[in-house]
Amino acid sequence: MKIGTSSLTLPDGSLDVGRIEHLADQALELTRTGRQLVLVTSGAIGVGARRLGFSHRPQTIPEKQAAAAVGQGLLMQAYERAFLSRQLVVGQVLLTREDVSDRRRHLNSRNTLRKLLELGAIPVVNENDTVAVDEIRLGDNDTLSALVATLIDADLLVILSDVDGLYSGDPRRDPGAQRLDVVPAVTPELEAIAGGAGTAFGTGGMMTKLQAAKIATAAGIPMFLTSGSQSHILAAVLAGDAVGTLFLPKPRPLRARQRWLAFHLRPRGRILVDAGAARALVENGKSLLPAGVVGVDGDFAEGDLVQVVDATGRELARGLVNYAANDLRRIQGSRTRDIAAILGRKDYDEVIHRDNLVVSV
Ligand code: GLU
Repeated sequence: MKIGTSSLTLPDGSLDVGRIEHLADQALELTRTGRQLVLVTSGAIGVGARRLGFSHRPQTIPEKQAAAAVGQGLLMQAYERAFLSRQLVVGQVLLTREDVSDRRRHLNSRNTLRKLLELGAIPVVNENDTVAVDEIRLGDNDTLSALVATLIDADLLVILSDVDGLYSGDPRRDPGAQRLDVVPAVTPELEAIAGGAGTAFGTGGMMTKLQAAKIATAAGIPMFLTSGSQSHILAAVLAGDAVGTLFLPKPRPLRARQRWLAFHLRPRGRILVDAGAARALVENGKSLLPAGVVGVDGDFAEGDLVQVVDATGRELARGLVNYAANDLRRIQGSRTRDIAAILGRKDYDEVIHRDNLVVSV
């Protein structure tokens, strides 16, 4: 379960201890039914900023890092106190992007979370904001919670937000907007509706919720989006009450390695392909050959993850590339049998082999 900053803080930006007490109540109810819970908590930067006397969400990286350092301690103190009084043990787990993208650290993080659960403790996870600088940050805990859900093979991801689900329009502006109870798939139309949004101290907005839904459901994990301000919400969600939006898992979930490729690794560049290659990749399950490449963007090395995009910039697939950007620029548009003559070697026939590619559309 992920709890957003706006669900954990009072309007003045300070920590809502009552809300954490209630979370602890719900955690107790849940563990009594034999279920295991992992919490992904936001709020460190917001609460820390308030304690440091900021009037707005900090803007610069050092400000955010300082605020997170102060706020993370305050957060854990509140969790520890509330959960301990119900005989529940919490364990702080701070993750960076590398902890989920680097294969070895990925497995390590998974072992830690599993061990904590096995020992009956409740992992309380946040991004390690004090050391993660912007360029390498995930930056939002919606994405983090979805990655954590896939890391532990969760049965369900619940995101508690300041809105009680996904609406057919922006409920703050459009009074006719209806909440969608069930979303079978995150479509570009839904993404267009979700648009920007966000709050003063949190980062989320609906886009990151949809991104999280894509990650979780692609891994076969249903996601439930609802409001953090309702009481006993977790019991209601598990009872199947219509209290938010349920995103249904994909019928054919990605396997662990494909998930790692698709969601955990960070793309280092983009390869633009023509319509023929697009069809071959998306519809016919083929590898990407140099003949279909019409442009190369970025400075990636052999083995890096890259996005494959069409002429409109839409991502078609992502995968591990066999040729570095500079080599690829020289062989783009060429036939496979000419690679050796151009580069003086031919290590691979394919630019991206099918086994190392995941279709995104
Ligand atoms: N990790 C951030 C924090 O604890 C929250 C990011 C988010 O709001 O999604 O402040």
